[in-house]
Amino acid sequence: MTTPRDLPRIDDLIGEAASLVARFGRAAATEALREAVERSRAAVLAGQTVDVDSATLIEQAATLLDARRPGALQRVINATGVVVHTNLGRAPLSVQALEALTQAASVTDLEYDLPTGRRGSRGARLDPLVAEACGAEDGMAVNNAAGALVLVLAALASGRGVLVSRGELVEIGGSFRLPDIMAASGARLVEVGTTNRTRAADYAQAADEHGDIALALKVHPSNFSISGFTQSADVQELAATLGPRGIPVAHDVGSGLLHDSPQPWLLAEPSMRASLESGAGLAICSGDKLLGGPQAGLIAGSAPLVEACRLHPLARALRLDKLRIAALHATLEAHLAERYDDVPVWRMLRSNIADLQARADALALAIGSSARVSEGESVVGGGSAPGAVIASPVVRVACDHPDRVARTLRQGSPAIVARVDDGALWLDPRTVEPADDATLAQRVAEALLPMQDVTTTPAP
Ligand SMILES: *Cc1c(COP(=O)(O)O)cnc(C)c1O
Repeated sequence: MTTPRDLPRIDDLIGEAASLVARFGRAAATEALREAVERSRAAVLAGQTVDVDSATLIEQAATLLDARRPGALQRVINATGVVVHTNLGRAPLSVQALEALTQAASVTDLEYDLPTGRRGSRGARLDPLVAEACGAEDGMAVNNAAGALVLVLAALASGRGVLVSRGELVEIGGSFRLPDIMAASGARLVEVGTTNRTRAADYAQAADEHGDIALALKVHPSNFSISGFTQSADVQELAATLGPRGIPVAHDVGSGLLHDSPQPWLLAEPSMRASLESGAGLAICSGDKLLGGPQAGLIAGSAPLVEACRLHPLARALRLDKLRIAALHATLEAHLAERYDDVPVWRMLRSNIADLQARADALALAIGSSARVSEGESVVGGGSAPGAVIASPVVRVACDHPDRVARTLRQGSPAIVARVDDGALWLDPRTVEPADDATLAQRVAEALLPMQDVTTTPAP
């Protein structure tokens, strides 16, 4: 019979809990051990049989601390087929971007001119690359595209009117709503047209009626599409209509596509270059969607407009740190040198079907008889190319409890995220790094084992 006297002393426990102390610190470890001991004492006094040995109590304290202090970000193998998966951190970085950010992580010449030994400019290294990649006179980068939008509105339209089509008053996701962004920036929203149809003439009329209009903003509806009786004014028409009135067009293109792409699943995505060539004064995009870089927001366009953004106080609040400057620089260099296969997002999107087929076959073979290769579809994701799919061979794993298998896979290390659909588990090799194929196959085979034991046990 266990009595409270059998409980170890806190000081003795601390002495044995070196790894807990190393991980969480002495104060937190002591508190958690005390809590574990108190719980056990209460259980013992209530007449329950509990283990009160040191190892059990230390484990209980570790569980308490784990629940309270969320762990670090974990590596995940993305087998979902969603190339730019926002919940999985959007674009995986290129090897070159990783090297650049590792180098910049220690001491670096971020704002220091090495030849003269004087203070240098943080943007000097990155801004010309942004401009060149977007085919613009000038460019810059800030924290993210939402930040870029706030900065553009604050710098160019604070206290003045901004024309936006009612069909583009969108919520991008994560409660990022255009009218709220507009209000936060101090610009006044002037709604134009209707939800399904807005013509260039509607913008002209609104501009003439309202007078003090600083800007027209066009927002790419990146995460939805409306079809049917619709019409919208494109950038070219807007620029032609509003240019003579002295009103520049700012275009949030969203995805970070630099050039128009002939890929059928990207036809509906506007690009930075095409937007600027069509007459946009400024174009804005994300750094970590189709650009395939770190989180960032790019602003490119006419020199005076970009300079006005650069000089606004919010530019300082939204600036990039050295790690992301390094990673974005390397990513833009890859685009400029047309080394698309160096950028994981583009390598995945452009994967050759025969290669994917071979990898899917090998995965299915390694997983076992429950796995079959079938015709499937990958998607771009990240709120890009809504509705567009890329035909892709995928592995269908038949099992009795696909949700359980999927959970087991998510909880291992590295975590594996797969799709569950139609009573099966689906693995899309397109979004998996080929170097992870063997791990993926082995882990899936292992996760199926206990399930098979359950299902193959003969009924009594
Ligand atoms: C994704 C997206 C944004 C937000 O970009 P972040 O970089 O996540 O801030 C803004 N506008 C459009 C059109 C988008 O697609």
